[in-house]
Amino acid sequence: MATVTLTRRKHTRLLVVHCSATHSGQDIGVQEITRWHRARGWSTIGYHYVIRRNGTLETGRDEASIGAHVAGHNSDSIGICLIGGVDTQSQAQNNFTNAQLETLQHLLGLLQKRYPGTRIVGHRNLSPDRNGDGRITPNEWFKACPSFDIDAWLALNSPG
Ligand SMILES: [Zn+2]
Repeated sequence: MATVTLTRRKHTRLLVVHCSATHSGQDIGVQEITRWHRARGWSTIGYHYVIRRNGTLETGRDEASIGAHVAGHNSDSIGICLIGGVDTQSQAQNNFTNAQLETLQHLLGLLQKRYPGTRIVGHRNLSPDRNGDGRITPNEWFKACPSFDIDAWLALNSPG
């Protein structure tokens, strides 16, 4: 296997939560996603962390390097992918397990200590504000990822 050389990130401002857009019966992780992303021609998995269905945290791309997970924000963010997020018809579905969300809460807490002042966002919340009203509304989401309302969840599950 060729050596993968990744560029180090200078700034870390965002912690971006994603989903794998797989259904709840698909027990996959870093290995499978790495294969998909390499098939797209990338050097390795685009995410820094993956949280499996059973809550296990897996390490993807080296945390200090620039990821490949969100247009326009890769150079200042860390990407975390929850496995799941769609139903068997590939429609967005909030189907994450409690174990996954507990791991997410813990990980976000650790990362916010390591990178003070970072903001936690869902991928869809970084969609362009097409009508310029200063809010990102569902009709503007370029995709549904991560299939749940991260702000509402954070209000009840503060990290750390
Ligand atoms: Zn995403």
